[in-house]
Order: sequence, then structure tokens, then C-alpha cells
Amino acid sequence: MKPYSTPWYFGEFGGVNPSISDSSTYTFLSSQKMQDMFEGNADGCYLYSRHSSPSNIYLEKAMAKLELTEASQVFASGMGAISASIMQLCEKGSHIIASRTIYGGTYALMKNVLPNFGVKTSFVDISDIKAVEQSITVQTKIIYCETVSNPLLEVADLKKLGEIAKKHGLQLIVDNTFSPLSIRPAEFGASIVIHSLTKYINGSSDCLAGVVCASEEFCASLIDVNTGCAMLFGSTLDSFRAASIYKNINTLGVRMQKHSANALYLAQKLEEAGYRAIYPGLVSHPDHELMTQMIDPLIGYSGMLTLDVHNKENAYKLMEDMQAKELGLLAVSLGYHKTLFSAPANSTSSEIPVEEQEEMGMTDGLIRFSIGLDLTIEHTTEEILKSLKNIL
Ligand code: PLP
Repeated sequence: MKPYSTPWYFGEFGGVNPSISDSSTYTFLSSQKMQDMFEGNADGCYLYSRHSSPSNIYLEKAMAKLELTEASQVFASGMGAISASIMQLCEKGSHIIASRTIYGGTYALMKNVLPNFGVKTSFVDISDIKAVEQSITVQTKIIYCETVSNPLLEVADLKKLGEIAKKHGLQLIVDNTFSPLSIRPAEFGASIVIHSLTKYINGSSDCLAGVVCASEEFCASLIDVNTGCAMLFGSTLDSFRAASIYKNINTLGVRMQKHSANALYLAQKLEEAGYRAIYPGLVSHPDHELMTQMIDPLIGYSGMLTLDVHNKENAYKLMEDMQAKELGLLAVSLGYHKTLFSAPANSTSSEIPVEEQEEMGMTDGLIRFSIGLDLTIEHTTEEILKSLKNIL
């Protein structure tokens, strides 16, 4: 276990939480200092909150500590963080190698939007390390994957991918949204770690936010006043949200422990009852060994599990039944204290064409669960098993 606690910052009157910076613009004591700031030579000064703000910096320091990177840059959403990082690294003619099982929004960005700017993506089976290496061309800039993929819960071999990236001088970008604190991708060779903070890290489903955790140099490049894709596309996080997310990180460790323990319990019971539950904490999961080598055992395998109930009709009936019994909410997203469930084939992954979904093993009977913090997971499990018995 790498110990983690949020950094110790106090409010201006000694408050246990740091003060919130409630300004979009900042004064300079001299005109020369303002000029220095624009020339990048005024450390410790603030200019304008689209560039940086004290509250954002508190959150950035906490996230860099959490992900074991030199620095981080926060964004107004996970997609803001993903798109700015990619645009920062790519130019016309650049090439990306991406896992074929990634969040539908990231897939749509790479498939439908980036080609308009001359950036092409090859989608590959990221577990086929040979295929990844064979896809590299002189134009390749990035290998992109999710630690635990959305929604199929395939685990990336970050060490092997990191070695390939290093050998070919590429950036390995890893979206770690599904497994914060459980896995720290920078330990295994990721050069850039991204989160949708909207999910587990904030944990209260009340806002959107994102982060890029990387080197000082890369994070500084994102807010360069002339060339930074955070600064110039403007997907900056608001200070009030940065402050509230910062406070929620204090409970991330205990939340992740409980999400993981509840998910493991439910997955084991579903499997014992003969249902097709997919959870990397189950010995039957093809990537169980791989994930076991990377996780912090104190945290576990995170709270995401999927259940295949054969077809869309069963999936829709089961989700409606579970919601009626107040076992969870029929909603997209993840990391909330209540269990959330949705059928990705027709929702969060609907951007991926049906043939490609079939090829990667995503059926319309697949339900994705973000398991909540239930104190009585035994009761929840019993009720889910009863619903399954009635429907299947
Ligand atoms: N990455 C993953 C794995 C996600 O699941 C999502 C959203 O669901 C995102 C990125 C995008 O994050 P946001 O919705 O905060 O823009």
C-alpha cells in the first residue's frame, strides 16, 4: 500500500479546509509583473481562472499525489481532459493506437471528430501486445487505453504497454476512472493518467470534472497561453467545484474499499447461483491474475461488475424491477453511493456500431453495475437473486 492522504492545506483563518478562491481575475502589484506572467516568468502569481486558480491547484496537488505523478491539471469534465491531452500531443497526420473497448464518448471522439483534424486512430485488442506493436507507424504518438475497460471490464497490461511505449518514444495515456487508488498506472509505465472526476473520485454524482495527471512539463504545456489546449479550448474547472471535489477525496479510500467489498460479495453470489457475472475480483475472470498483480489489496478490485442476462428484454425487466425494489437506480455513470445500473449496448456504448460491439463481446443483454456503499449488501444480493429467478 502506498499511503495516501490529501495534502495538508488550511484555510486563511486556520480552517481545516483550504479557502475557496472566489475570483475569475487577479491583481498584480506592478505592470511589469503582469507582463512577466504572460511571458511565463511569474511563478506563484495568478492571472485568470481559465489559466489557474488557488482552489484548482489544491485539487491538482491532491490528484498528483494520488496518482504518483509530478503534477496534474484539472478540467471541467473527463472528456475535457481526454480531448485536451490528445490535441496537445497530436498534429495533422498523427496516429493513435487505442483499445477497442473504451468509453463510448472517447471512441466517438477518436472515430468521428479527430479525423476532421487529420488525426487517425487504429482500434486494437489491447490485450494482444503483438498487435499493438505491429500497429505502430512513424506517425504514432499515443497508445490509449483504460486500466479497467468500460464496460467490458478487461484489464490492460500496463507494464507491457508501458515498455512498448517507451521503446518507441510514445505516450501511454491511461484512463483510470474505474479503479482510483486500486491501481496507480504511473507505477507501471503510464506517462499520462486521466480520470473522469465525475465518477468515484468526487463520488456524489453532483458535478462533472476531469483531470490529467502527468509530468510538470506536460501539465504546464496544457495551460501555455499561446499553445495550451486546456487554456485555449477553455474546458477549465470552476474553483467552487474544485474545492468540493478536493474535500470528497478525503473519503475516497474508505469508499473504494466498500465499493470493492460489496461488488466482490455480489459477484461471488451471482456466480455461485450460476449467472454470468463478470468481475475482475473473481478467479474466473480472464484478467484476475493480471489485476491482482497491480492492485492495492487494501482497496480491492473496485466496484464495477457486469451481468449478462442474454437479451435486451431480460436486461430492461431486471433493471426496472431492481429500481422498483429500491436496490439501485437505472442511471448511467458510476461511483455514486447508491448502486447504478444501465445496459451499455443501447446507452453509454451506443456510439460503437453493433458489428463492433459483437466483435468485442458486448451483447444487448449486458448490464453494467456500479455497486454502491450498501451496509446490507447481503439483503441487496438476496433481492437481486429473487428478481433474476423470476425473470430468467
Ligand atoms: N472515461 C470513462 C471511463 C468514462 O466512463 C467517462 C464517462 O462516463 C468519461 C471518461 C468521460 O467523463 P465525463 O463524463 O466526466 O466527461
